[in-house]
Amino acid sequence: MKVKLIAPKCDWGSATNKYPPYVLATLAGLTPDDIDVVIQDQNIEEIDYDEPVDLVGITVIVHTAKNAFKIGDEFRKRGITTVMGGVFVEACPNECLKHADSVVLCEVEEMWSDIINELFSGNYKKIYNSDERPEIKGLPLPRHDLLNQNKYLTNNLVMISKGCLNRCHFCTGGVHWKGQVKTRNIEDIIKEIKVLDSSQPYIFLDDNLIWNPEYAKEVFRALIPLKIKWICSGACVDSVDDKELIRLAKDSGCLAMLLGFETVNEKTLKRNGKGFNKVDNYKKTIENFHDVGIAVQGSFIFGLDGDDINTIVDTVKFIEQSQLDMLTLNMLYPYPGTPFRKKLINENRLIIDDNEWDNFTYNRIMFIPKNMSIDELDRGFKWATIKLANSEECSKRIARAVKYDRAPEYIFKQNMQFSRHVRKMHGKWNESELNKLINKI
Ligand code: SF4
Repeated sequence: MKVKLIAPKCDWGSATNKYPPYVLATLAGLTPDDIDVVIQDQNIEEIDYDEPVDLVGITVIVHTAKNAFKIGDEFRKRGITTVMGGVFVEACPNECLKHADSVVLCEVEEMWSDIINELFSGNYKKIYNSDERPEIKGLPLPRHDLLNQNKYLTNNLVMISKGCLNRCHFCTGGVHWKGQVKTRNIEDIIKEIKVLDSSQPYIFLDDNLIWNPEYAKEVFRALIPLKIKWICSGACVDSVDDKELIRLAKDSGCLAMLLGFETVNEKTLKRNGKGFNKVDNYKKTIENFHDVGIAVQGSFIFGLDGDDINTIVDTVKFIEQSQLDMLTLNMLYPYPGTPFRKKLINENRLIIDDNEWDNFTYNRIMFIPKNMSIDELDRGFKWATIKLANSEECSKRIARAVKYDRAPEYIFKQNMQFSRHVRKMHGKWNESELNKLINKI
């Protein structure tokens, strides 16, 4: 028996498609040994529809839905049973069932071998679901060996803990994780790190790596003897005033932390379920990391209910004064399943068209903002992203990284990528166009 696991092409984001599909490597690791597994990532290769396989599994997020549907249709035309899973599938199961024979609406760690056997037998359920969130301690390691390792920016992805305690209204994680976090055994984490290439930095994929400071400290202590370098892809501003934690992060090889600031408007944070972020602490938090030489990537969202055009101006001012090393600036999306989307529907503010899933790309505005016009949000986002991605601002960030020896090589690459991403969103720009946008604001 053979199963093909597929990551559909993602048309969104600056780097999403440059990292391997960790979720599929994890699923491959959970697949019983007597079943052959292949992984295909449409971001780096064409899908082979004619390879003889008995089952196809497709992971789906909103940004890949349109490609996932085409892939599902192609395999089903060939008579191959197709199953879909992922956060988009949880939110839109009926739509996915038009393109798949079965859907999985929960985490599958404990169920996957049963599900796969039922799918092979032909006696399967259309919908697999469970209210329980399975434990992730002692699981088989992800099958990194099945990924096409030469084609990615890095292969060193590792999940330390899975989930998030919070339920921010705009975030799919808040819905998917059901307010819980599951932790791995530290010895499993170390084992996984050791099978990867220790000469390259690792990326820890957690939504909030330091949600439980004591667990995080234990992990960091265990990492110190490995002498690796690592980058954290998600942490909350509320959990980072613990100096010992930050020191241990540095000693264990932390180069950079991504922090979700979202906005500089405290009322907006409260209104959107993220009141645990305290704007007054932002500056101190960045300094705490900088004091030990850890770089900070600030993540911001534009268009939250409560924010207006002045908030966008304030956000840019804050960023310029903040000494942040790298930036992620995103338009707010009405992700399926989120409380924010439900609110938009109730208030008749969701802009829907026939190809809705194709619209989750870059800077498309898909809702009527609460405290500004669509045009203001559009101009404000364009102005802010162009202003912060111009070569002068990127150079300042890179120069600081060199001066203070905060992962300069990594910060250089990230800023170049950010600048390319903004150009891809808005095309080429010149100073007079930017000034016109500013003048209107
Ligand atoms: S935005 Fe961050 S803190 Fe909020 S629910 Fe999502 S992952 Fe958790």
